[in-house]
Amino acid sequence: MNHPLRQTSRQASRHCALIVGHSKERPGATNLSDGISEFQFNSRLAKSIVESVQACSETRISIVFRKTYRALPAEVNALTPDFCISLHCNAFDTTASGTQTLYYHSSVESKGLAERVQQVAIDSLVLRDRGVIAVRDNGRGAHLLRSIIAPCVIAEPFFIDNDSDLKQANERFEDLARSFARLIQYVSL
Ligand SMILES: [Zn+2]
Repeated sequence: MNHPLRQTSRQASRHCALIVGHSKERPGATNLSDGISEFQFNSRLAKSIVESVQACSETRISIVFRKTYRALPAEVNALTPDFCISLHCNAFDTTASGTQTLYYHSSVESKGLAERVQQVAIDSLVLRDRGVIAVRDNGRGAHLLRSIIAPCVIAEPFFIDNDSDLKQANERFEDLARSFARLIQYVSL
């Protein structure tokens, strides 16, 4: 089997911490028609991403479920990952639509990772490009983004409360998972 990208990315093994946003008890935003929550969608997505990583790749993914939001950064830092992607969905008024990715404003490496994650999500879901968002202190996700030592982003590929965004995400789910897996294996930071 031919692995064209492998030649250009020959490097030591890499370790990605893949955080599933929210928790079973507090599952985040929910789609009112379908009932699916951020936690449910992203638990499935994380599992599918891990299954899509090629057996031959030297990539390790740790799926991280939060115990508490406060304790989450320390848990991730203890894993000493090379980089970190936190899986979320956006939600607003059931009609807002599109893809965005958040990073901590002063981290150049996180910004680079955010741009790659954003591109992958846009290419997979073909929703409106809302861009990468620089988060400052007290901004959404700042505690996590600021406290994790490795480059870290929060992915929000679609609005889960928007029925047509959710339909698109469900229809293109496998593509999204495979594309994230590919990015995790080959992204250079
Ligand atoms: Zn969320």
